[in-house]
Amino acid sequence: MLKIGCHLSASKGYSNMADVIHKIGGNTFQFFTRNPRGGKAKDINEEDIRKFHEKAKEYGIEIILAHAPYTLNCASANEDIRKFAKETMQDDLRRMEYTPNNLYNFHPGSHVGQGADVGIKYIINILNEVITESQTTTILLETMAGKGSEIGKNFEELKQIIDGIKLKEKVGVCLDTCHVNDAGYDVINNLDNVLEEFDRIIGLDKLKAIHINDSKNPIGAHKDRHEKIGDGTIGIEAFERIINHPKLRDLPFFLETPNELDGYEKEIKQLKQLYKN
Ligand code: FE
Ligand code: FE
Ligand code: ZN
Repeated sequence: MLKIGCHLSASKGYSNMADVIHKIGGNTFQFFTRNPRGGKAKDINEEDIRKFHEKAKEYGIEIILAHAPYTLNCASANEDIRKFAKETMQDDLRRMEYTPNNLYNFHPGSHVGQGADVGIKYIINILNEVITESQTTTILLETMAGKGSEIGKNFEELKQIIDGIKLKEKVGVCLDTCHVNDAGYDVINNLDNVLEEFDRIIGLDKLKAIHINDSKNPIGAHKDRHEKIGDGTIGIEAFERIINHPKLRDLPFFLETPNELDGYEKEIKQLKQLYKN
């Protein structure tokens, strides 16, 4: 069965997100661990977590993906910004253990001037400080579009980060279809080659989730503007190949398209219809 869901608001808690995704036809979801611009996370409500686990079982929700605030920058030249990123991740990972064995995605960061190699070193240092032997959460590095000085615009940079991690089994990659398109990978006409390249450089065993987004921009644009499924430059035929690809079809897919719930419901339905069971 296709594991498909979308980004949801976490403001009403975990059990509410389970209800919402089930209602619109999905069986997994993504949410921000706190206000996407940073700030303090809400306290975990244990009763909400208990209800969530019950509903997850009932609805067949096997996996969920938490997204770190996109303003975190582990690669910053500024020590205070890196310290904030580290403490936020530590707090998020602690909270994630209330829903064990799930995924935590973050944007590797932007080096804003001091160079990718220095930025990558900072990211590695933070990850090695926050990752613990006992955590059950897998931390995912997201593939980025290469806007500005973003790190993670190619598979080599992600591999360089993973190589520096001591507890490598705790990290993986989330591939965003809009971002890799904008970064210059041809998932429209050459999906096999892109996945072979991913396998050769990072290893497909590290690929744990897909952000399934169309793009407003052509391949290589380095823009990062998501579009609704089928309305962008990637197109519906490419998405049909992506969700059915033997190397991808068992992964969870998360929509981050410009939609309200009714739009997400339509896209989930459409993708489920295109999935070959
Ligand atoms: Fe993201
Ligand atoms: Fe994404
Ligand atoms: Zn994006």
